[in-house]
Amino acid sequence: MRKKIVAANWKMNLNLEEGKSLVDGILAGLPALTETKQVVIAPPFVHLAQTAQQLQGKANITLAAQNCYSEASGAYTGEISASMVKSVGAGNVIIGHSERREYFKESDALLAKKTSQALENGLRVIFCCGEPLEIRDADTQNEFVEAQIKAGLFHLTAEELKNVVIAYEPIWAIGTGRTASSQQAQDMHAHIRNVVAAQYGKEVADDTSILYGGSCKPSNAAELFSCPDVDGGLIGGASLKADEFLGIINAMMSC
Ligand code: PEP
Repeated sequence: MRKKIVAANWKMNLNLEEGKSLVDGILAGLPALTETKQVVIAPPFVHLAQTAQQLQGKANITLAAQNCYSEASGAYTGEISASMVKSVGAGNVIIGHSERREYFKESDALLAKKTSQALENGLRVIFCCGEPLEIRDADTQNEFVEAQIKAGLFHLTAEELKNVVIAYEPIWAIGTGRTASSQQAQDMHAHIRNVVAAQYGKEVADDTSILYGGSCKPSNAAELFSCPDVDGGLIGGASLKADEFLGIINAMMSC
């Protein structure tokens, strides 16, 4: 059965102390999660060890890195490998966030390598895709996102794809306060699931969690997460305050 997931992406925010109290606040109000209703926290790298300790022994709330490198080890100053991420206690990694694609010029080919590297090291990948505004305005978002999925994921086996969660994040909705309507989200999620089904079969596609990201907040989360193909959310701004993030988690619990 496919999982519903709410994942926090802190981006480059919060110092260690602030991160610690945010996680304490989330844990204090956390509802009883299950195997099929999970939470993921993706703080910056320097928080990972501390957050791992805070989450130790807690069921169905796991840790993610926001990125990892495409090579296993070596002379790549400033980079962090997938095995390092795994060794600090994180079980997930976000790959291909639109900010990585745009500001750090991460190509589809690099993201495909990062995805393989992460999976080889036992991490679950949260693979991001999503179109910029001009593509949405031209009504070519389906083709655009399909190309990102094919380029980033279709080198994987069906077995490998079981450890991939897809996050659809229309760039025009990220951090802008402008959310995709639940119909726009549902249409794209259904399209992504069809794209996955065409390559890997319906069973694999039906088991793949597809998260929505982009100005998701407690007031719109339940409507978005009630769409049949929307399996939760990747949350930026609203994940930085415990009460807001808990509101979104509770929306998932009620769907
Ligand atoms: C994100 O960056 O993944 C995101 C969805 O951000 P926000 O929720 O702030 O739009």
